[in-house]
Amino acid sequence: MKFGTKALHAGIFPDPSTGAVMTPIFQTSTYAQDEPGVHKGYAYARTRNPTRDALENNLAALENAKFGRCFASGMSATETVIKMLNPGDEVVCSSDLYGGSYRLFTKVFSKYGIKFTFINMKDTSTIEEAITERTKLIWVETPTNPMMNIIDISAITSIGRRKNILTAVDNTFASPYLQNPLDLGADIVMHSVTKYLAGHSDVIMGFLCTNDPVLDEQFGFFQNSSGAVPGPQDCFLALRGIKTLHLRMQRHCENGRKVANWLRSHSNIEKVYWPGFEDHPNHDIAKQQMSDFGGMLSFVQKKDTLEQANKTLSSFKIFSLAESLGGVESLVGHPATMTHASIPREQRLKIGLTDSLIRLSIGIEDVDDLIDDLEQALG
Ligand code: PLP
Repeated sequence: MKFGTKALHAGIFPDPSTGAVMTPIFQTSTYAQDEPGVHKGYAYARTRNPTRDALENNLAALENAKFGRCFASGMSATETVIKMLNPGDEVVCSSDLYGGSYRLFTKVFSKYGIKFTFINMKDTSTIEEAITERTKLIWVETPTNPMMNIIDISAITSIGRRKNILTAVDNTFASPYLQNPLDLGADIVMHSVTKYLAGHSDVIMGFLCTNDPVLDEQFGFFQNSSGAVPGPQDCFLALRGIKTLHLRMQRHCENGRKVANWLRSHSNIEKVYWPGFEDHPNHDIAKQQMSDFGGMLSFVQKKDTLEQANKTLSSFKIFSLAESLGGVESLVGHPATMTHASIPREQRLKIGLTDSLIRLSIGIEDVDDLIDDLEQALG
């Protein structure tokens, strides 16, 4: 089955009791049992829910995964992966990471004796130096948020395999339409379903998938033990959003390309970060591992001050100034004070995330209107 067909049909069947074509919202916390322990596969909704089952199977199919599990947020999916580790274990992470992941790693899990090393993975040769005999996991985000760096997934996963270390990829920015890390050797893929997958800025949800039954069993154990599961209404909304993922992504990419090129030729713009440019440092890797370059980009103006950035950020009329990304509507964000505020300033500056950097999530509107809005905001 090709991607668009999978988005609509994989894991989704008419409801056996009524024939309903759309997966029903099973709004129940529990299920009747015929006798103790004898039931139809569903005992309690934290453990399993048929609406969630359909979504998990559908999402797993999109990532070419054998197993998938949904969580109450992207952060709870991430947390589940780290919970598999033990005190003393180490994780090597890409240095420019979503601020919430950085906060979870450094402020929550470091208290439990897990050590996180952040390195620039643009050049994969640095990874071997950061790995110790205690390293159990490599955590990668590509394209990175918000610097749009590209990390070579195949190169990282082959180092991981050689050293017997798991590799997890946060695939939120690309979505499974553009990139499938398990096919490139990753052990685990994580998504903030909140973004492109659900696609309409109306759901918070996370997802983990793998081809390894042992890993999946552990994810299921934590999913049930900790209980950070999404409700059936949210699963229904995500299922509905995914039906148009391929169409939305085509438009996100098309609009992203036009906006990136337009911004680059604007006289007030100093630099645009977008992996589709031929002179992007890892453009060739992006071309190999992604089928297009997505709708996310960042830029810095020639007048590189916080005041100028604030002035621009408050002038948009169509772009909403808001956290998040990947929805149908265009959003503009200021990583230094919004999504990445939890990263110390010196750490941010080291990765090029200056106080004036602006991030755009390009939606599926008519691109001419988006460019007009940028023109007046930058004017
Ligand atoms: N990973 C990335 C790349 C993100 O951008 C985000 C949220 O912005 C997350 C993870 C966290 O996901 P959630 O907000 O669904 O918990």
